[in-house]
Amino acid sequence: MILRFGDYSREATFDADVVVVGTGAGGAVVGAELAEAGLNVAFVEEGGWHDTASFNPYMTESIPRLYRDAGVAAILGTPNIPFVEGRCVGGSTVVNGAMTWRTPEDVLDGWFKSTGASELSPHGMEPYFERVETAISAKHHLDLAIGGDARIMVQGARKMGWKVEVNRRNQDTCVGTNNCVLGCPTGAKQSTLVAYMPRAMKAGARCLTEVRIEELIIENGRCVGVKGRAIDPRTRKASTPVTVRARAVVVACGAVQTPVLLEKHKVGRPSGLCGKNFTCHPNVKVMALYPFEVRSWQGMSQYAQIREFHDEGIVLAENFIPPGLLAAHLPFHGKEAWELMQQYDNIVLSGALVEDSTTGTVRRGPMGMAVPRYDITVQDHARFKKGARLLAEMHFAMGAKRVFLPFSNLPWIDKVDDLKRIEETQKKRNTLELFTVHMMGTACMGSDAQRSVIDLNGQIWDLPGCYVADASIFPTAVGVNPQVTIMAMATRIGERLAATLAKA
Ligand SMILES: Cc1cc2nc3c(=O)[nH]c(=O)nc-3n(C[C@H](O)[C@H](O)[C@H](O)COP(=O)(O)OP(=O)(O)OC[C@H]3O[C@@H](n4cnc5c(N)ncnc54)[C@H](O)[C@@H]3O)c2cc1C
Ligand code: SF4
Repeated sequence: MILRFGDYSREATFDADVVVVGTGAGGAVVGAELAEAGLNVAFVEEGGWHDTASFNPYMTESIPRLYRDAGVAAILGTPNIPFVEGRCVGGSTVVNGAMTWRTPEDVLDGWFKSTGASELSPHGMEPYFERVETAISAKHHLDLAIGGDARIMVQGARKMGWKVEVNRRNQDTCVGTNNCVLGCPTGAKQSTLVAYMPRAMKAGARCLTEVRIEELIIENGRCVGVKGRAIDPRTRKASTPVTVRARAVVVACGAVQTPVLLEKHKVGRPSGLCGKNFTCHPNVKVMALYPFEVRSWQGMSQYAQIREFHDEGIVLAENFIPPGLLAAHLPFHGKEAWELMQQYDNIVLSGALVEDSTTGTVRRGPMGMAVPRYDITVQDHARFKKGARLLAEMHFAMGAKRVFLPFSNLPWIDKVDDLKRIEETQKKRNTLELFTVHMMGTACMGSDAQRSVIDLNGQIWDLPGCYVADASIFPTAVGVNPQVTIMAMATRIGERLAATLAKA
């Protein structure tokens, strides 16, 4: 049963075995596991349930419907880092690029060492990766879905002598409409809206959409439910109070919203780590203008990654976006922007992702708003400059006539020799233009209450009955696109919680 805003005027108090807050990569997966284990699951999701048939390329309609704060939010720091997160059933998986990378083995080895938990080792996680990859159909593409930009990136990397790895993506017969970031209109992308929510609903789960959870219900030191308010999808005003009582609560609001909810109740006292350990895998964009048609819009984005510099924590990839979004990210407006957009067919957009070498915080601000903060290090600054330079070199080698750089005081260059200007001009971090979509780590898992927020079952150390199962739980950054790690960890948490509740 799917409930929407208008339904809460009739009924606004619910009971369940488990209430799962959030339906993204973590929430939908944990909820489906629990529902299929025979438990009565109620999801609560702030966004709406939007079917595949409603997805389209119209940015002004899609962005406010599918993204939190219409996609306009920033992590404060030097420099500020704009970020986006999904707000709809399926969460960020509805708008993501569908790359499916397992957690690198060295990262899992580190988690194993720091927690002593062999289940977090590569061997221990293997069955969960397999289950997730089958559920979301993680595989390579049909040739017809590979676009001109992907071919330029792969040829360019080979010309430079760099190692390239083709991405597996969670898709079934993707035809390359390149609308991933506004919702997949063909249903090929196996977001949690497509791959997990129908399974959970078939197993009897209810989905309370258009409700924002504002607090946990805690009785005698135990979490026994959640309270929030219905949100009018048209005006975004909060109205009817909604309450769900349950034997267990799973918080899966994403690494920015989860700590905001938890910090209200001051959980994580033993370690003081709730809202800390925030990592965000930022990236820089490098856009190349070619003297010939590439038609990057024909074919999916994110066909392959250049992994030559992975050991240095730098991954290079193409990253094409629909025209409205691209126009919003140009270094100028008006006539110049219009003239450049007329050459949309000749543009290749690429990016350099840099692995975190530091951590930031997410604090609960006025009116319960999230205030993320993250300052890149001097070492990261050097890696962003290197990533931008490498991409620019490759685009010039492939014949680009102009390359747009991620520096506010050096927005573009027209020849490879001008790359030396990067070192001359980029002395300060605040001229760097970053972006991110991979927020992690703010309620980290561990085996010691003094060094983590949740235990190895996903339960908050100092709040029995309350679990976390989303990107917040990573002990450290993963250095790759995180959705498969989140889903695998959520599967494991769901399996353990189902066993616990079966015994109780
Ligand atoms: C544009 C974009 C591209 C990306 N590309 C990739 C990619 O190619 N590969 C990859 O691996 N990862 C990618 N990611 C990242 C990946 O999608 C996320 O890391 C992942 O979805 C996070 O899962 P989550 O469960 O932590 O949060 P989310 O998936 O964001 O889900 C959280 C859900 O909780 C809901 N919620 C939040 N607060 C509340 C509240 N108080 N009450 C009720 N509901 C609430 C939200 O509305 C949302 O639906 C991308 C992300 C974006 C935004
Ligand atoms: S590129 Fe493929 S996965 Fe992305 S929106 Fe188009 S069909 Fe869907």
